[in-house]
Amino acid sequence: MSEYLIKNGHVFDPVQGIKGDKKDIAINDGKIVDKVSSGAKVIDAKDKTVMAGAVEIHAHIAGPKVNLGRIYRPEDKLFSCTPTKGIERMGGGASIPTTFKTGYEYAKMGYTTAMEAAMPPLFSRHVHEEIRDTPIIDEAAFPVFGNNWFVLEYLKNQEIENTAAYCAWLLRATKGYAIKVVNPGGTEAWGWGLNCLSVNDPVPYFDITPAEIIKGLIEANEYLGLPHSMHIHPNNLGNPGCYQTTLDTLKIAQGIKPKNKFGRDQVMHLTHTQFHSYGGTNWGDFESKAKEITDYVNKNKNITIDTGNVTLDETTTMTADGPFEHHLTGLNHLKWANVDVELETAAGVVPYIYSPNISVCAIQWAIGLEIALMMKDPMRCYITTDHPNAGPFTRYPRVIKWLMSAKAREAQINAFKHKDKVLSQSSIGTIDRELSLYELAQMTRAGPAKSLGLSAMCGGLKPGMDADVAVYNFNPDKPVANPEDIEKAFSRCAAVFKSGVQVVSNGDIVSNGQKRTLWVDVKVKENPQVMRDINEKFIKYYSMTQNNYEALGHHFVPNPYAIEVDATQ
Ligand SMILES: [Zn+2]
Repeated sequence: MSEYLIKNGHVFDPVQGIKGDKKDIAINDGKIVDKVSSGAKVIDAKDKTVMAGAVEIHAHIAGPKVNLGRIYRPEDKLFSCTPTKGIERMGGGASIPTTFKTGYEYAKMGYTTAMEAAMPPLFSRHVHEEIRDTPIIDEAAFPVFGNNWFVLEYLKNQEIENTAAYCAWLLRATKGYAIKVVNPGGTEAWGWGLNCLSVNDPVPYFDITPAEIIKGLIEANEYLGLPHSMHIHPNNLGNPGCYQTTLDTLKIAQGIKPKNKFGRDQVMHLTHTQFHSYGGTNWGDFESKAKEITDYVNKNKNITIDTGNVTLDETTTMTADGPFEHHLTGLNHLKWANVDVELETAAGVVPYIYSPNISVCAIQWAIGLEIALMMKDPMRCYITTDHPNAGPFTRYPRVIKWLMSAKAREAQINAFKHKDKVLSQSSIGTIDRELSLYELAQMTRAGPAKSLGLSAMCGGLKPGMDADVAVYNFNPDKPVANPEDIEKAFSRCAAVFKSGVQVVSNGDIVSNGQKRTLWVDVKVKENPQVMRDINEKFIKYYSMTQNNYEALGHHFVPNPYAIEVDATQ
């Protein structure tokens, strides 16, 4: 492998506390090193910003519901990806790009690692096939557990050890990375035409509540000591007044301590917080409760969050929250797809237009930004758009512009048709905070890497870490004359390295890299009961045999990188 020296850039690395000092970054054999030989290839980063590769903590980029979105929205296929130099392959799609375009667009913005946030276990092989197809970026997928029959039955009897043994088996069978929970109990209730809109609503048949599912899965997560905390999309997403359900959900984490083997300090990750921070009783008196939610998270340090920023685009919503998508199609009367996944989960897909001329959309835009700007510790709050739900991930540079420039926010507020409503129903107009580049590096690199338990590997530029490096055409010594320059600089990197391979040069893809699939390999004590239960459920209920279910070997999982967890002691 080649040696590189990225010379004279302004380095922002929260892992080492470096705040824009002029430094050289040396790369050898895929890793950041102290020194390279005089033969190393030099990349001139003078007057440029250098950060670690960014880490995406929550996006929907691979698997059956993403593909369903692609298939049923031909109007989304803007063939805007032009192959360069015979390296880049053809891609298309705006809110649901093809696998190739997904890898390229992330890489061009300096992202080198991304999490697929909701893997239906039954279709894990499809998820991994798409991950295999996605170039450059390392990826991992979170299987969903919050409506799984095994989990509901074990937790009804408070069997944490069995729940944990089942989770360990499923993570291995699906090559998954973390415990994801979507509308706990509510998606299962949807199979009965019902939903769970509070943490205390009973789940039909199973005689359990969302609160019990959430607490049980946090405990199972900590029993195993997984790299990431339990990752939750709470009940009652997207409804006026839902912030109360969100607070009730967050309170369940109180007093639970992390089993801290991978450097994380939290037991719960609240995702797309914007969708869970709504006040009011209807769409007429809809208002922001970003302050109430961030006040709670600021005080309670065992929680991390991501934002779920609305980007004011036409997009395609998709979620394992089946009942929510049914509700959404009733609101906007656009097409709707719904799938039930046997004993495990469900999914829905509905297109959505976040119009700047609609007051609710404009207030949603404000809420996402308020959350990022009201969080005191950038190491616990990460920028996402819940791609593609609140907007495509390709809009990150625009979100960064709004977060780094009060002037850019003001310009957008002035462009809203219902400017007065945005100002009266949120406090976005009173916030003058502008994120620094250091805080941006915390929110997009060091923070998410730490929350995912990957801080020894990525999210920083310390010698020994993977050589994931992004160089931006942004000079931190020069005052920003025009906020548009921020968006432009973060859209296309001057250079990007993934595991020591240069994948982007002057904004163009120059290599398809050597992407890996990260997964957790958890060792647990032998548990004959759980193995018997699995065997029985496959015979009695599943439409597929256990042998055909598991995503085994290199055929399905490209370049697997196992993170070993020993839960036997
Ligand atoms: Zn999501």
